[in-house]
Amino acid sequence: MSKYKILYFLCIVLAILCIVPIITCASLMEQQPWNETSLTIGVYVSIGVMFAFILVAIGIMMTRSTFRCGKCGMEFKGKPFDIIRGAHTNNKRVMTCPHCGTRGICDHEIK
Ligand SMILES: [Zn+2]
Repeated sequence: MSKYKILYFLCIVLAILCIVPIITCASLMEQQPWNETSLTIGVYVSIGVMFAFILVAIGIMMTRSTFRCGKCGMEFKGKPFDIIRGAHTNNKRVMTCPHCGTRGICDHEIK
Protein backbone atom coordinates (compact mmCIF):
# COMPACT_ATOMS: atom_id res chain seq x y z
CA MET A 1 0.00 0.00 0.00
CA SER A 2 1.46 3.35 -1.04
CA LYS A 3 1.77 6.30 1.34
CA TYR A 4 -0.67 8.29 -0.78
CA LYS A 5 -3.28 5.60 -0.38
CA ILE A 6 -2.77 5.63 3.41
CA LEU A 7 -2.97 9.43 3.41
CA TYR A 8 -6.15 9.27 1.32
CA PHE A 9 -7.88 6.89 3.73
CA LEU A 10 -6.63 8.90 6.71
CA CYS A 11 -8.26 12.03 5.27
CA ILE A 12 -11.56 10.20 4.71
CA VAL A 13 -11.54 8.79 8.27
CA LEU A 14 -10.65 12.17 9.82
CA ALA A 15 -13.35 13.90 7.75
CA ILE A 16 -15.92 11.40 9.07
CA LEU A 17 -14.62 11.91 12.64
CA CYS A 18 -15.26 15.67 12.27
CA ILE A 19 -18.99 14.87 12.35
CA VAL A 20 -18.61 13.97 16.07
CA PRO A 21 -17.69 17.50 17.33
CA ILE A 22 -20.34 19.01 14.99
CA ILE A 23 -23.09 16.87 16.54
CA THR A 24 -21.69 17.37 20.06
CA CYS A 25 -21.60 21.17 19.72
CA ALA A 26 -25.06 21.27 18.15
CA SER A 27 -26.61 19.15 20.89
CA LEU A 28 -24.90 21.12 23.70
CA MET A 29 -26.56 24.33 22.46
CA GLU A 30 -29.76 23.15 24.11
CA GLN A 31 -28.12 23.21 27.54
CA GLN A 32 -27.78 26.33 29.66
CA PRO A 33 -24.20 26.40 31.01
CA TRP A 34 -22.70 26.49 27.51
CA ASN A 35 -21.98 29.66 25.58
CA GLU A 36 -23.91 29.54 22.33
CA THR A 37 -21.41 31.71 20.41
CA SER A 38 -18.43 29.47 21.16
CA LEU A 39 -20.45 26.38 20.23
CA THR A 40 -21.44 27.98 16.92
CA ILE A 41 -17.76 28.74 16.24
CA GLY A 42 -16.97 25.12 17.13
CA VAL A 43 -19.50 23.86 14.58
CA TYR A 44 -18.11 26.08 11.80
CA VAL A 45 -14.49 25.22 12.61
CA SER A 46 -15.34 21.49 12.56
CA ILE A 47 -17.13 21.85 9.20
CA GLY A 48 -14.14 23.80 7.85
CA VAL A 49 -11.66 21.12 8.99
CA MET A 50 -13.91 18.43 7.53
CA PHE A 51 -13.95 20.15 4.12
CA ALA A 52 -10.17 20.61 4.29
CA PHE A 53 -9.71 16.84 4.74
CA ILE A 54 -12.17 16.11 1.91
CA LEU A 55 -10.33 18.52 -0.40
CA VAL A 56 -6.97 16.88 0.39
CA ALA A 57 -8.53 13.45 -0.29
CA ILE A 58 -9.94 14.65 -3.64
CA GLY A 59 -6.57 16.22 -4.48
CA ILE A 60 -4.74 12.94 -3.84
CA MET A 61 -7.32 11.04 -5.85
CA MET A 62 -7.03 13.41 -8.82
CA THR A 63 -3.24 13.44 -8.94
CA ARG A 64 -2.40 9.84 -7.93
CA SER A 65 -5.25 7.75 -9.37
CA THR A 66 -5.27 5.36 -12.27
CA PHE A 67 -8.39 3.67 -13.58
CA ARG A 68 -8.71 0.47 -15.56
CA CYS A 69 -11.64 0.14 -17.95
CA GLY A 70 -13.90 -2.83 -17.18
CA LYS A 71 -14.56 -3.41 -20.88
CA CYS A 72 -11.31 -2.90 -22.80
CA GLY A 73 -8.88 -3.14 -19.85
CA MET A 74 -6.92 -0.01 -20.78
CA GLU A 75 -5.47 2.11 -17.97
CA PHE A 76 -6.16 5.83 -17.92
CA LYS A 77 -6.10 8.94 -15.74
CA GLY A 78 -9.55 10.24 -14.87
CA LYS A 79 -10.80 13.71 -15.69
CA PRO A 80 -11.54 15.75 -12.51
CA PHE A 81 -15.24 16.24 -13.28
CA ASP A 82 -15.67 12.56 -14.13
CA ILE A 83 -13.97 11.58 -10.84
CA ILE A 84 -16.21 13.82 -8.71
CA ARG A 85 -19.55 12.86 -10.27
CA GLY A 86 -18.86 9.11 -10.60
CA ALA A 87 -20.68 6.74 -8.26
CA HIS A 88 -18.08 4.71 -6.40
CA THR A 89 -17.17 2.11 -3.84
CA ASN A 90 -13.79 1.64 -2.15
CA ASN A 91 -11.95 0.49 -5.31
CA LYS A 92 -14.52 0.81 -8.12
CA ARG A 93 -15.78 3.94 -9.79
CA VAL A 94 -18.15 4.68 -12.66
CA MET A 95 -16.01 6.45 -15.29
CA THR A 96 -16.01 7.11 -19.01
CA CYS A 97 -13.14 5.27 -20.71
CA PRO A 98 -11.18 7.57 -23.08
CA HIS A 99 -10.12 4.59 -25.22
CA CYS A 100 -13.39 2.82 -26.02
CA GLY A 101 -15.84 5.51 -24.80
CA THR A 102 -17.77 3.12 -22.55
CA ARG A 103 -19.23 4.55 -19.37
CA GLY A 104 -19.05 1.80 -16.81
CA ILE A 105 -17.44 0.43 -13.68
CA CYS A 106 -13.66 0.84 -13.65
CA ASP A 107 -11.07 -0.47 -11.22
CA HIS A 108 -9.64 2.41 -9.24
CA GLU A 109 -6.16 2.44 -7.76
CA ILE A 110 -4.20 5.11 -5.91
CA LYS A 111 -0.49 4.81 -6.54
ZN1 LIG B 1 -12.38 1.07 -22.37
